[in-house]
Amino acid sequence: MDTTSTRIISAISRIGSVLRSGMWEFATRENLNPAQAEILQLLHNRAPQGVRLSWVARQLSISAASASDSVAALVAKGLVRKVRALDDGRATDLHLSDEGRLVAERIAGATGFADEAVATLSPQAQQQLLGGLLQVIGQLQKTERFPELRACLSCKYFQPNRHADAAAPHHCGLMGAPLPVAMLRLDCPEHEPADPVQQVKNWQALV
Ligand code: SF4
Repeated sequence: MDTTSTRIISAISRIGSVLRSGMWEFATRENLNPAQAEILQLLHNRAPQGVRLSWVARQLSISAASASDSVAALVAKGLVRKVRALDDGRATDLHLSDEGRLVAERIAGATGFADEAVATLSPQAQQQLLGGLLQVIGQLQKTERFPELRACLSCKYFQPNRHADAAAPHHCGLMGAPLPVAMLRLDCPEHEPADPVQQVKNWQALV
């Protein structure tokens, strides 16, 4: 049966295809495959901190072997460096090389057309869309089908519904400032995981 939920998933899926197509064109121009481009983007978002191969595989929902092949290709191209992990001498962290960082900085332009399309919506429509998508992500995280995020809603500094202002009800304890829904982050470098009970309460704050 064609329900509203199936039409929403169909729309998200089609948007995902268009975004992948943009990433594919970019990757081809840069002599990369799409997985390699996504790995550069992940490493860029986590810089200067290094990441483990297993984390990359989880974020991309691919096998450790596939992630390893893609990383090996990036190392061979001089875009990624393997460095002994500071917290475990037997482990290896992945970092961008200087050239890899330059390529990663160009990746945002690959899907800039989608950013421009969303930016044409009213601020209220953007806020409602973001809130709805965050709720879907929260539901998917309950089923462990969504990779780990450094999102406000899983952060120990997030204080839900602390303010009476309907436009900015939440609060970031680290910044000491209100958090409008439109400013909720999905990948914040200052994120510190909240305990599981608090995380459930945080995600419920959007319902
Ligand atoms: S520290 Fe970052 S992730 Fe945590 S609540 Fe503040 S803005 Fe959100």
